[in-house]
Amino acid sequence: MAEHGSIFGAMLQEFDVAARILNLDPGIWRILTHPKRQIVVSCPVQMDNGEIEVFTGYRVQYNVTLGPAKGGIRYHPDVSLDEVTALAAWMTWKCAIAHIPFGGGKGGVVCDPTRMSRRELEALTRRYVAEIIDAIGPEKDVPAPDVNTDAQVMAWVMDTYSMHVGHTSTAVVTGKPVEMGGSLGRREATGRGVMIVTREAARHLGLAFEGATVAIQGFGNVGSVSADLLARAGTRVVAITDWKGGVYNAKGLDITAMLDYARQHKTIDGFPGGDSISNEDLFAMDVDVLIPAALENQVTADNAGSIRAKILIEAANGPTTPDAHKILHERGVLVVPDILANSGGVTVSYFEWVQDRYGYFWEEREVNERLERKMCEAFDDVVQTSMKYKVDLRTAAYIVAISRVGTVTKMRGMYA
Ligand code: GLU
Repeated sequence: MAEHGSIFGAMLQEFDVAARILNLDPGIWRILTHPKRQIVVSCPVQMDNGEIEVFTGYRVQYNVTLGPAKGGIRYHPDVSLDEVTALAAWMTWKCAIAHIPFGGGKGGVVCDPTRMSRRELEALTRRYVAEIIDAIGPEKDVPAPDVNTDAQVMAWVMDTYSMHVGHTSTAVVTGKPVEMGGSLGRREATGRGVMIVTREAARHLGLAFEGATVAIQGFGNVGSVSADLLARAGTRVVAITDWKGGVYNAKGLDITAMLDYARQHKTIDGFPGGDSISNEDLFAMDVDVLIPAALENQVTADNAGSIRAKILIEAANGPTTPDAHKILHERGVLVVPDILANSGGVTVSYFEWVQDRYGYFWEEREVNERLERKMCEAFDDVVQTSMKYKVDLRTAAYIVAISRVGTVTKMRGMYA
C-alpha cells in the first residue's frame, strides 16, 4: 500500500517482521497497519507583509485502542502526510512499549519556522488548532512538542482550545510551560530517557558507561539535553553536529559552554572548543555510542557500513532505514530503536496529563524517579523479548507493542 521510499512504508516493513514472528491474526494485522483517521487542513494566515499565505496542516490519529491519541506537532518544510502517518504509528508502538494508556497520533504543518516572525507563528498555531479542534481534547487526542515546536507553541494550543470550549483545559496538550500546568522535568525528559537507555545498553553489552565516548547528531531539544546529561553522567561527548556544522574534541566537548553558544548563534557551527567536522565524519567516528537526534532517514545503506560505534541510540524518530538496520545488525552494532530510546518524552507527557487531571503537581525528583523506573522497565521488557524470540531490539520492541495493542483490540471486539 505504501510507495517505495515512503517513511510509512519503512514503518510497515519493520512491523511486518515482528507480525510474522508473532504469527499475528490477519484481521488484527490489517487493523494495525491502517491509520484510524487522517485529517488534512488548510490554514490561511495573514503574514507581517500583509499578504495571505495558506499552510497545509495534518493531524493523524493512528490508533486509539489503549487511550487518547498522543503525539507531537512538527513544523518543517518537508512535512508530508506520509511522514506524519508513520510518526503517528510510531507513537502508537512507543506508548504501548512505555506501558502508558495512550494511542498514537501526530501533527505537522508544512512551513519554515526559521523564516517566520513570532506573531506569524502564533497566528498559524491558533488557526491550525482551530481547524482540528473537534478532533482534539484530553480524552481524544493530546498534542505535544516535536521538531521546531516548544512550550510557547503548546501555550497557544492550550489557549486556543480553552477559548473554544469556554474554560481552561490544561490536559489538552503536554509540554506546556510549568507556570500553566506543565510538568517539571518534561523539557528534559526525552534527553533524560536517552541518557538512561544509553547507560542500560552499555550495561547490557558489559561496556563501561563511565568514560564511554559519544557522538551526537542534532543539538535541538533532544540532542542538547542528551549531550548535557550524558556528560554529567560521566561519558565523554566528543562530537556533535547540527543543521549547519559540527565540532569534535577528543578530550570531550564543554557542553555547558556549547549550550550558551547555541543560544546566542542558533547553531553550534563555529564553536571555538574543538575542530570542525561534517555529518559524514560524525557517523564514521570511532566512538562507543552514536546518537542520531535529528530527523528521519539519516543512517542509510550508503553510510551504515562506515559506522564504527558499538551502540546506536535512536533519539530521533525513524533515523535508520530498514536496509541500514539490516547492515548494522549483521555487523553487530546494538541498535536501541526509537520507539524505546526516545520514549522518555511521551512518558513524562503522560505524567503531565495525569497531574493536570488531578490538579496536583509533583516535585521534579518524583518525576525523574518515576521516569527512571518506567524507562528501565521498558528496556527490560524489550531485552527479555529479544532473548525469548532471538531477535534484534527493534523487532523485539515491535513484538511487545503489537502484542499489547493486539490483545486489547481482540478484547474490545468489533463495533457494528
Ligand atoms: N514528540 C515526542 C515524540 O516523538 C513527544 C510526544 C508526546 O509527548 O506526546 O515522542
